[in-house]
Parts: sequence; structure tokens; C-alpha cells
Amino acid sequence: VSIPSQDGLKICCIGAGYVGGPTMSMIALKCPEVQVKIVDISAARIDAWNSDNLPIYEPGLHKVVTACRGKNLFFSTDIDEAIQEADIIFVAVNTPTKKVGIGAGRASDLTYWELAARRIAQVAETPKIVVEKSTVPIKTAEAISAVLHGAGKTRFDVLSNPEFLAEGTAITDLDNPDRVLIGGQLDESGQKAMDTLADVYAHWVPRDRILLTNVWSSELSKLVANSFLAQRVSSINAISAVCEASGADVDEVARAVGMDTRIGPKFLKASVGFGGSCFQKDILNLVYLCESFGLPEVAHYFHQVVHMNDYQKERFVGRIIHGLYNTVTGKKIALLGFAFKKDTGDTRESASIDVCRRLIEEKAQVAIYDPKVEEEQVWMDLTYACKMDKTEVQKYVTLCPDALTACKDAHAMAVATEWDEFKELDFHQVYDTMTKPSFVFDGRNILDHATLREIGFVVYAIGKPLDP
Ligand code: NAD
Repeated sequence: VSIPSQDGLKICCIGAGYVGGPTMSMIALKCPEVQVKIVDISAARIDAWNSDNLPIYEPGLHKVVTACRGKNLFFSTDIDEAIQEADIIFVAVNTPTKKVGIGAGRASDLTYWELAARRIAQVAETPKIVVEKSTVPIKTAEAISAVLHGAGKTRFDVLSNPEFLAEGTAITDLDNPDRVLIGGQLDESGQKAMDTLADVYAHWVPRDRILLTNVWSSELSKLVANSFLAQRVSSINAISAVCEASGADVDEVARAVGMDTRIGPKFLKASVGFGGSCFQKDILNLVYLCESFGLPEVAHYFHQVVHMNDYQKERFVGRIIHGLYNTVTGKKIALLGFAFKKDTGDTRESASIDVCRRLIEEKAQVAIYDPKVEEEQVWMDLTYACKMDKTEVQKYVTLCPDALTACKDAHAMAVATEWDEFKELDFHQVYDTMTKPSFVFDGRNILDHATLREIGFVVYAIGKPLDP
């Protein structure tokens, strides 16, 4: 691959989170001649990035960071200096769903993005390429360009370069991406900016996987990709309800359907429901955009994906309650997994939060174990979700150091995250410590249900017959 030398190129990234940290570390690793500086308003986060205890858990990340940190990769709170030095400024700040005002509950909250843009405009003295790394609504580049040129004193080219990594596999996704998408203005300056950014990625990504499009297509593609992925999960989850009602097995159906090459096997795993900071937020953002464009039918179509996900979580809790003879009041339920998926400590929009909130409403005693989630995070999530203070939540919830402790004397075990270690449990020992009859509600279909039944458990799985 021929790559023009980018010796001396300086990159800055505003936002040192789940996206900014890993993506920029990978650029630093692959482009040793490029200086990469990641900045954040949170001093605690930057301190953690500069320590041995990184602020996020991601397999392989520690190795990449320590290989480059102090050489061509720097973490800092000096945002102004980083902006001034940089040729390319990525913005990877959070863009959550708006909580209040017009579009509340659906539209994307661009407050952090605009603050970052205004800071860039105020500080920049030389031309900059400003890159949308955050997921943003279509037309954000236009608004950002107006802010930058209105308040700034130099030239800015605004590019869209959405991130497609998945938490838990961020490093392998970044190392070997399906595609890198870059959208920009199709004038001479925009084209040059796109080429400069494409040359950064070309250090390790084959050119035919670097896609250049107009800026609106790029912004929209990210929302569409997440909406389609979530739609597949909601589709198979909807079918799981049909399976439970009819005696079909959702894993068998998914296998049969996924072998059709037009459909494919990936993302057809039925579960308690999807979580994570992105799927719901991005679909709701698309729904809001469609409503704004006067396309209520399209909005309604995608809104059903979120609705089905809520229904699936509620169905899972319903099965626990009905399975335990219609009441869980005072009963101990072991909730295994609090992260929204395995191999991350991230709990944003985790299905476990809703499951736990509903069990608390039913006055169950919930014993939670997760191998990576910080204790304080669980209390923050539950106090917010249940609208209770911590002392009140603690009347119903205990946090356990391992799965066995969580299961001791429990009436039921509910698996909410697909951590590999849950498959390796000594289920004979687990069974011996639990209240009888002992129930397993496998919200991820990861356990060996036949063996569990042989041991004596009553097993409920997603989309599977009760008594196969
Ligand atoms: P995050 O909350 O982990 O990180 C955002 C960081 O930005 C925080 O550390 C925050 O302190 C910082 N920040 C906010 N405003 C700032 C400002 N004005 N100046 C400096 N720093 C500021 O969020 P994330 O998960 O990394 O997501 C970032 C964006 O990437 C979102 O738009 C998200 O939708 C998108 N995205 C996320 C993922 C994912 O898996 N998490 C994947 C693809 C895309």
C-alpha cells in the first residue's frame, strides 16, 4: 500500500471515552509518525488513562495503550493546547438522548458537541480538519460548520467519520474494520480533507474498505447501521415469543433462517433484549428525524424495534414471576450479569437494570454478581432507574463477590449477561446451595439446559419449549 508520509501530522481527539480512547490509541499504534493527543474535561478520566487502571475495560486495550503512551500517544486535560497544535481534531464526546425540551426522549442532545465546536472556534488559529466521531443526526456537519465559521478565525473542513466498533471487541474491530466511512463536502478543500483522513486509516485498512461519501450519507449510515442491527435482535426476539407459545425452538429457527445467504447467521441470537448506550438512542434519533422530515410511517416502523425490546425485557421478568408461582415477594433471585454484554464493564441501557428494577417493584431480594461492573455504578444505575435513594435500594439488592454467593439460598438464578464464566459454573454445587425447587431463567441461552434439567433445575430459556 502506498501512503503519503504523514510525518509531523498532529491529531487531537476531544472526548476520552469508550470511543475516543480505543480509536485514537489504535491510530497511535498504527501510525507511529503521527502524534495523537486525547483530551477530556474530566480530569479523573484522563488520570485513569494515564494510570495502569484504565477507565474502561476492553480486551486488548491495555496492551495497545501501554505500547504507545508517552511515545506518540498522550492523554491530557489541556484542551486548548491540543486544539492549537492539531491538524485533525476528532470530536468523540457523548451525544445522549435529549432529556428535556423539544424532542425530549428521542432527539440527540448535541450540547457537548456544540461546546466542543465553540471551543475549537475560539482557540484555533490555523486551518483544521474537524471530524465527527460521535454519532450525530444528519445535517450536524452543516450546523457545526456554521458554528465554526461563524465564531472562528480560520478555515475548517468538517468530516463525518462514524465509529462502528462494538464494545467488548473494540480492539479487534478497530484493527480489522469491515469498513471505514468518511463523509465530506465534495468541493476541492473537502476532498483534500477526506484524502488526508483516508491516508491515516490506509496505514492499516485496505483502501477498498475506506468508503468516501457525501457527508449526509455518512451521518445517516451510522444511524441506519445501528437501527438494522437492533432490528435483527428485535425480530428474533419477537419470534422467540412465538416459539415459547408454540413449542418451536428459537435457536433452531435462527439457524435455519440464518443459513439463507440472503439473511446470514449473525445477530440472530434471541435474548432478554439489547442494551448499550447506542442502539436505543440511535433508533430514537432516527425516529425523531423521520418525524421532523414528515415521515411518520417510517418513524413508526423503526420505533417498533425499541418497543419490541421493552416488551422482551418485560416478558422475561413476567416469566420469572409466573414461574415462581406468581410471586417473587421476599424471594431471593440471583441476577448474574449487570453489564449490557460480556467483556465490558459498561452498564448503559443494560437489560439487567430494567429486570432488576421490575424485581424490586415486586419486592424480590436481588443478589447481583458481575465480574467487571464497579459497585458504585450498580448503585447509581438502580437509584436512577428505581427513583429511590441508595439506602432504599439496598433493602432489596445485595452485590456479591461471585456467582456462587449470589445463588446461595436463591429461589432462582437469572442470567442477564452472557459472560463466559457463567457457563463454567459448577452447577451441582450451585444446585445444592439453592432453595428447592431451584429455577434457572437463562436470558441469554448460554447454559447447557439438558444438563441443568438432569441436575434437577427447572429451566426457562428464551424461545425454548419448557419441557423439550
Ligand atoms: P463516553 O461518555 O464514554 O465519552 C465521552 C467523553 O467526552 C466523556 O469522557 C466526557 O467527559 C467527554 N466530553 C464531553 N464533553 C466534552 C467537552 N466539551 N470537551 C472535552 N470532553 C468532553 O461516550 P462514548 O461511549 O465514547 O460515545 C461517544 C460517541 O460515540 C457517542 O456519540 C456515541 O453514540 C458514539 N459511539 C459510541 C460507541 C460505543 O460503543 N460506546 C460506538 C460507536 C459510536
